Amino acid sequence: MSPEFPGGISLAEVWQARHRIQGRADRTPLRYSPSLSRRFGARVWLKLENMQPTGAFKLRGASNMIAALLEQYGPDRLKPGVITASTGNHGRAVAWAARELGIPATVCLSSLVPANKVAAIEALGAEVCRCGNSQDDAFAVVDERVASRGQVAIPPFDHPLIVAGQGTLALELLEERPQLDMVVAGLSGGGLLGGIGLVMKQLSPRTEVVGVSLSQGAAMWHSLQAGKPVQVEEVPSLADSLGGGIGLDNRHTLALVRAVMDSHYQVPETAIARAMVTLLEQEKMLLEGAAAVGLAAIEHHRIPIEGKEVALVLSGNNVALETFERARELERQSHANL
Ligand SMILES: *Cc1c(COP(=O)(O)O)cnc(C)c1O
Repeated sequence: MSPEFPGGISLAEVWQARHRIQGRADRTPLRYSPSLSRRFGARVWLKLENMQPTGAFKLRGASNMIAALLEQYGPDRLKPGVITASTGNHGRAVAWAARELGIPATVCLSSLVPANKVAAIEALGAEVCRCGNSQDDAFAVVDERVASRGQVAIPPFDHPLIVAGQGTLALELLEERPQLDMVVAGLSGGGLLGGIGLVMKQLSPRTEVVGVSLSQGAAMWHSLQAGKPVQVEEVPSLADSLGGGIGLDNRHTLALVRAVMDSHYQVPETAIARAMVTLLEQEKMLLEGAAAVGLAAIEHHRIPIEGKEVALVLSGNNVALETFERARELERQSHANL
């Protein structure tokens, strides 16, 4: 396989990222699930990214990019600080990584971002800027500040250093389960799925790479169909971390996801709700909706995993209790309607 991969990111960059983020983002546990394994007649493993210090895998990419910038440009260039727009977890990761590296951080958040996530970012010492009603509005403010204040933008997914950082998760998966048949992950901007797929296609091509999107407002889904980045209307979801566009000027992740993803599913809210409740009841883990979409897809689409070794990426745990209650209620109603 050519080292210059679609999306322009090489496996070597993932190895560099792994070295760079050591001690900044955790190597997370891969836990066997006896109950899910029994239920599906498979060997189901859970990659616990919810156990990262910021509660989500996004710390991998953010730490990698900020540390790489510091190596490349030195502390003076980064004095104005780093800036990002985020649905929450990326902003939190940038705030954390910047603080660890002694750099000021600004986070631009749209009004759709829940209050618990805003509070978590402020608690990390970052300046929070509430701007606009969509992710795109927030991105516009980032551009403006990069131009006027010399702050350095840390994009949430569409950058080789971010994708390479997220890809380190796949190196860990293969080290522990080299015979992995399938990996299932939530898909929004494509940094996570792209990073995982980039590693799998080169180190373990037999491993099926499965992406899961929302059934409404999934910009990546529509962009893949259109063959170019398209804008879709953002819809509130239990999996709020999967909301937002992929950027009309997407340079890396759309091409990368197209090249590395083997199957793609969409999941409705009821399936997400059910998976969130199952993961709490049976695995005793409180997860956000975006982390439950893998299980939701397997259940809802009856993906055949019998006899297979499967890893589900539990991508994050930043869920408000009210959101979980909404999931519980939806799950009850869907039972009543059966
Ligand atoms: C960001 C995020 C995703 C999706 O990652 P992308 O790189 O945007 O595709 C999935 N789960 C959680 C918890 C996230 O924060």
